Amino acid sequence: MSRGEDLGRGYVAPVTQHWHAYAYTGRAYPDSAVRRREVPADHPPIEIKDWLRRPGDQVVATFADVEAAVAWVEGELTQNPPVDQEHFPVWDRLERTRETLRLAAGNDVVYGHYSKAQQYVSRALIACPREAGQYCPYGVT
Ligand SMILES: [Zn+2]
Repeated sequence: MSRGEDLGRGYVAPVTQHWHAYAYTGRAYPDSAVRRREVPADHPPIEIKDWLRRPGDQVVATFADVEAAVAWVEGELTQNPPVDQEHFPVWDRLERTRETLRLAAGNDVVYGHYSKAQQYVSRALIACPREAGQYCPYGVT
């Protein structure tokens, strides 16, 4: 019996809390363009819950462990250095990420910054499932 399986009496075992990671690097578009769907398919949505409606091939990684998730963010920020990192060092961003993810199961971390290469860099760790008793849209149990 796997976790998340419906036991047939209205009881659904909890899915292990985890985070799905998404990445977008490119031009930033205003919300109006996002609403009109005039943006690349992997551009960040306006609402956080809409991340989990993305096709599975947009999920770049899935983590059940806070430190593994923080290590992923560190790699992404190191590869795409924020243009304002002198004022808000990567180390501080990572500490904030760690605190947020540890504070409560179900917390998301969403980054958006301009890189020194003038690209909009969006990196998101989206908690899944969103509510008790829900399934993971990607089949993680
Ligand atoms: Zn999931």
